[in-house]
Amino acid sequence: MTLGEFSVIARFFSRPVSPGVLGVGDDAARLGLPPDTDLVSCKDLLIEGRHFFADVAPVTLGHKALAVNLSDLAAMGAKPLACLLGIGLTTPDPDWLRDFADGFYRLADQWQCPLIGGDTISSEFGTVISVTALGTLPKGEPGLRRDRGQIDDDLWISGDLGGADVALRALQGDDNISPELLAATRERLERPEPRVALGQALLPHAHAAIDISDGLAQDLQHLLKASHCGAEIQWQQLPVHPMLQALPENIKRLAVLNGGDAYELCFTAPKRSRTNIEQLAIALSVPLSRVGSLTQAPGLRLHHGNGLVESLSAQGFDHFKRGEQHG
Ligand code: ADP
Ligand code: MG
Repeated sequence: MTLGEFSVIARFFSRPVSPGVLGVGDDAARLGLPPDTDLVSCKDLLIEGRHFFADVAPVTLGHKALAVNLSDLAAMGAKPLACLLGIGLTTPDPDWLRDFADGFYRLADQWQCPLIGGDTISSEFGTVISVTALGTLPKGEPGLRRDRGQIDDDLWISGDLGGADVALRALQGDDNISPELLAATRERLERPEPRVALGQALLPHAHAAIDISDGLAQDLQHLLKASHCGAEIQWQQLPVHPMLQALPENIKRLAVLNGGDAYELCFTAPKRSRTNIEQLAIALSVPLSRVGSLTQAPGLRLHHGNGLVESLSAQGFDHFKRGEQHG
């Protein structure tokens, strides 16, 4: 027997929430905001065939659907508060739904971000998922806004880059990438770890941040434009995923500079914050690399270490310009 809409909600998306919160089951959810906070919100839409493969493991898809939103909260320095899940399904498969919900709730529990509502519909166009994440920032705290970068700020990147892009290429059939390399990078694509703790911890130390979802070159240029400055970055300082070293230079370069789906934070901070930021890296066990600095001169320049300086254009993923996965 096919599962109906209400059985899907009741069986898979109605786990209990804290007392005092009105979660799934009424016309709308209700929860109090912690005192002296402002609400921060974001939403991402994921479509089968564009953002994920139809046969992706549902447990990783559940994780990623929430992770990409928690990453946006992290890039503001916000603390997760709650989330809502809209899902369109062709035929509700109980095994698929159980695994999807497990992946979703595991990450939601990790960051105390309860699922408090959503919508469930049938879809004729494959699976469609849209998560809304709510978070908070202390009142009066501007957050890690893109427009707060300052000239001479250091530029930092969390984690490493390029792994997700290489895994995506391999899954799309690129035979430059060995099965071993796919195995070593697949987690980066399918189970990104949103830098939630880092984002909040950076509030007193950093100025501006963006999460890298469409490629470093492109996302950084959004920040530079908003902050009315340029940047110099050092190729040798960029945190390349350790398994990418043996790849041909052009593939490695594209993966690191233009590869999407990294969900690492790229942030700017004054030089006086260096020691604090290095200590945060240790305290949170997140590698943080200082890769360059903001400049008065506009544009993004990549220094190769041999004297060669290259001007980077804002290439990266754009939904209306290229038909690949990401976004
Ligand atoms: P309405 O028709 O008023 O939009 P629904 O009948 O669609 O309400 O949803 C019933 C309840 O289930 C609501 O509380 C809604 O927020 C929740 N809900 C529906 N789909 C989901 C989902 N995928 N995840 C979490 N909660 C959901
Ligand atoms: Mg409805």
